[in-house]
Parts: sequence; structure tokens; C-alpha cells
Amino acid sequence: MKRKIIIIGSGPAGLTAAIYAARANLDPIVFEGSQPGGQLTITTDVENYPGFPDGIMGPDMMDAFRKQAKRFGAECLFKTVDRIDLSKRPYRVYVNDDEYSAEAIIISTGASARLLGLDSESRLMGHGVSACATCDGFFYKDKKVLVVGGGDSALEEATFLTKFASDVIVVHRREEFRASKIMVERAIANPKISFKYNSTVDDIIGSQEMGVESVILKDTKTDEVHKEDCDGIFIAIGHVPNTSLFKDTIDLDESGYIITKPNSTYTNVDGVFACGDVQDHTYRQAITAAGSGCMAAIDAERWLELQ
Ligand code: NAP
Repeated sequence: MKRKIIIIGSGPAGLTAAIYAARANLDPIVFEGSQPGGQLTITTDVENYPGFPDGIMGPDMMDAFRKQAKRFGAECLFKTVDRIDLSKRPYRVYVNDDEYSAEAIIISTGASARLLGLDSESRLMGHGVSACATCDGFFYKDKKVLVVGGGDSALEEATFLTKFASDVIVVHRREEFRASKIMVERAIANPKISFKYNSTVDDIIGSQEMGVESVILKDTKTDEVHKEDCDGIFIAIGHVPNTSLFKDTIDLDESGYIITKPNSTYTNVDGVFACGDVQDHTYRQAITAAGSGCMAAIDAERWLELQ
């Protein structure tokens, strides 16, 4: 099946690119991937997306994005691309043995928050467990929260969370931080932040109805476990860009994020554009991802006109 544009990924970036591409009569096809709607589908209330003064649930927002894209003719397939051939145009993408081709490709495969891998963590995600302090910090006014991790993200999120929470405990598996010195100093100087070093999270106790009640922490040196009561836990142990499909063809930075040319969504491959978290590890917001999805569709449309 041949199209003018194939969009890979269906978070705010991909679906915004689909809205713009569809309205430009480019007849886009969107491969939604293994997490249709992207990372927002694992959050609950989204309160910082402009235009929703009362907030909106993450999954509902992505359903609305998809509906809007389909209204203008975008085709959204609940399929995951498993191979891509960018060696010549038209470019080809494969889902099992099915082949689809297009002159232009927009990559919006996002990034995934690295998680601890506990069953309780996935069960309580969005119910007291969060991977995004900017998104969910507001719900923890005067509460006690834990932040897991020892990098810049963890210390930045811990510091941010003190705007709301009464107590923030950083749980780190070692004694030395990976985070920059200034972030560490800022966190240590903050009276609301305390630290549990050499500690890992063994389990998270709570329910979807009542939220998180406590966390079982294990001392990595003594193997002792103890229960720490808390109202929420933020996992901040890094993100992994979803770029394994492209690693041999698209230029990636040292962390695996797609490199785009300054002030654009152009990649190193002509006719291949990237938007959203797959090329942005700085802002990582739905609104910035949507903005870059719009840019990718406009870049692709202008590029197609010149072919
Ligand atoms: P990161 O630097 O990779 O740090 C991840 C942290 O999580 C590390 O302390 C690591 O522990 C810990 N960790 C990883 N897997 C774990 C597991 N399974 N269980 C427990 N702990 C685990 O990731 P990041 O903090 O997200 O930062 C990513 C990049 O963005 C970095 O380059 C960072 O400088 C940058 N960043 C910058 C800013 C800023 O400048 N404002 C803010 C955020 C991020 P170990 O240390 O033991 O490996």
C-alpha cells in the first residue's frame, strides 16, 4: 500500500502530525504501535494542557486527538511497525509481512519511562505511582512522596515536588549521585527533602481505589527491609527513546534520541522527520510534543511539494 506520508507513533506528536497532514490532503496512515496514544495513556488527569480548564483524563485526551485526525481522513491502524527500509524511496515499513510505502516518514515513536518492573508498580500506575512529577505533582499537596533515582531527573523532580508535598524522600540504590553537583546541593539544602541511600523499592502497597499507602524498601548492604508510609511514589530512573527501529539509519545522540536539524524536524535522511519525545529529552510535555508534531507535518508537506 503506498501513501504520501506514513506516521509511526500515536502520542500527541504523531496524532497532531496526522491532523495537519490529513488537513493538507496528504492522506496519512498512522501506525499506533504497542501503546496507542502513547505515554499519556498511563497518566490520569492532565491539568496542564491548554484548553481544558477542568483537566482531562490522559486516555480521553488521546481519543479526542485520534478522533480529530480521523475526521480529516487519517487512517489509524492499531499495528506496530517491526522493520523499516530507508535505503531508497519510496521508503518502506513492514508490519510482519505486510509492506507499506511512502515518500515521507514522520517518526513519533516517543520515549518510555524506565520503570522498576514491579507488578504493583504497573497496577498502581496513575493511582499513586507516577513517572512524571510535572504531570502529577499537583495532586500531592501537603502529602508525603518518594522519588526513586539518583540522576538529574530524580533530584529535579524531588525539588519540584517540594512546591506541593510536605515531605519528599529520595530513594537511591547507591551512595553517590549520578546527578550534577548543583542539583545535588540544591536538593540537600532543601529542608523538605530527605534521602534513603543504598535502598531499593521491593514492593508498593496500595490499591487503585485508595492509592499508594506505603512502600517496602530494602537496604542493599544489609538486606534489611522496612515499610515506609507514603501517599505517592515517583519513578525517575530515566527514559528510553523508542529508536531501536532506526538505529542503523537515522543519526542518534549518545542517549539514543533522534537528532533533528536546529529549529526543524528534519533528520539526516531526506524525507524522514522526527517529532515529540523521540527527539526531545528536555521538555517531554504533551503540548511541546504536539507542537513539534505540527512542525513535522508542515516540514513534510513543504518537502513533498519540492519533490
Ligand atoms: P540517568 O542520568 O540515567 O539516571 C538514572 C538514575 O536512576 C541513576 O541514578 C540510576 O542509578 C537510577 N536507576 C536506573 N535504573 C534503576 C533501577 N532499576 N532501580 C533503581 N534505580 C535505578 O537519567 P535521568 O536522571 O533521567 O537523566 C537523563 C539525562 O537527562 C541525563 O543526561 C541528565 O543529565 C539529563 N537531565 C538534565 C536535567 C537538567 O539539567 N535540568 C534534568 C533532567 C535530566 P545509578 O546511578 O546507580 O545507575
